[in-house]
Amino acid sequence: MINSACDCVISLLSYCNMRCPYCNSTDSRVTDSRPDIEDAIIRRRRVCNQCGAKFTTVERIQMRDLMVRKNSGKLEAFDREKLRRSIKLACRNREVGDEQIERLVTSIHRRLETEAPDDTVTSVMVGQMVSDSLLNLDPIAFVRFVSVYRKFSRVADFKKIIDQIPEADEGADVCALPKTTLF
Ligand SMILES: [Zn+2]
Repeated sequence: MINSACDCVISLLSYCNMRCPYCNSTDSRVTDSRPDIEDAIIRRRRVCNQCGAKFTTVERIQMRDLMVRKNSGKLEAFDREKLRRSIKLACRNREVGDEQIERLVTSIHRRLETEAPDDTVTSVMVGQMVSDSLLNLDPIAFVRFVSVYRKFSRVADFKKIIDQIPEADEGADVCALPKTTLF
């Protein structure tokens, strides 16, 4: 019996047969649900009825179905996971936690949803938002990301971008860097 929006979501999830990441069984039950209003997500603790493993699923409230226009002109669906993976890769072995990365992804996703005209953003817009955010978060992650995103092929490309990062002086206001000079 579905008697609230929340029950409805649980029913849908049960119907979708959430797989246990340990034994692959689709038989699990929800033991706890926590909405995180700020991040627009709901975390659900689950227990697998087959192997007893505990795991968490995260449901995200999606406001719009975004499309990304690539430089080639091709359109593809915005892939939040892809965005998260590229940021995570740039932050590898840096002192940036998963939670910080998740928050960064959420803030970029939200900005894109807010600023996208006609539900379409460009890959340049996404790349620029990630670069700006990483510059504030970690300059090394920023350089790594930009080198991939801008397809650096020469050492000189790195030099050019590094020369524009303010000196790593503790407490320096990296936001002061004029964004338009970066590319
Ligand atoms: Zn299991």
